[in-house]
Amino acid sequence: MERYPGLEKVTDLSGLRAFIGDCRRCKLWQGRTNLVFGTGNPQAELMFVGEGPGADEDARGEPFVGRAGQILTDIIERGIGLGRADVYICNVVKCRPPGNRNPEPDEVAACEPFLMRQIELVRPKIIVALGSVAVQSLLKVKTPISRLRGEWHEVHGVPMMPTFHPAYLLRNPADKRLVWADIQKVMKLMGREVPKRRR
Ligand code: SF4
Repeated sequence: MERYPGLEKVTDLSGLRAFIGDCRRCKLWQGRTNLVFGTGNPQAELMFVGEGPGADEDARGEPFVGRAGQILTDIIERGIGLGRADVYICNVVKCRPPGNRNPEPDEVAACEPFLMRQIELVRPKIIVALGSVAVQSLLKVKTPISRLRGEWHEVHGVPMMPTFHPAYLLRNPADKRLVWADIQKVMKLMGREVPKRRR
């Protein structure tokens, strides 16, 4: 992965956001309303990485604020017992792909140095990768998410748990139980008590 000159000198998230600036390093800039950098605790133990902004996120400039975002909020609050402000949430690409298509390989590659720097700066203890684009980008594989989820992997020395994207759960609510199983593994590694039954 090519790094952008000067990126190593960035020492915190606000510096990274300033470095990214009014980014035009890939073609996704053309369709964005807002660049969606990331949100949450800059020293979070737990970091969620999604695919890219959708329409609601593009409009608000914040990740996971639409219907899929509500599912992620439920996972964080009702499942794990934390608040959104306790964790860090971001995406592989920071600008909305048109029509909610998957980001293309050149777009992922152009934005990847920013995600890697975010991981280095937040230094989470655990990463949860949401959906195939996030998992495949972080692991540099093409294996389907259905075969990767539920098992620990490693990114930058950080344990990473792949699970389904909340938008997938909107279409396949029966698979929420699989995500809950993955999240329970995350909670165990965090040393958090796993309730016997989810409310
Ligand atoms: S997606 Fe990333 S690389 Fe592309 S324009 Fe947006 S911030 Fe820049």
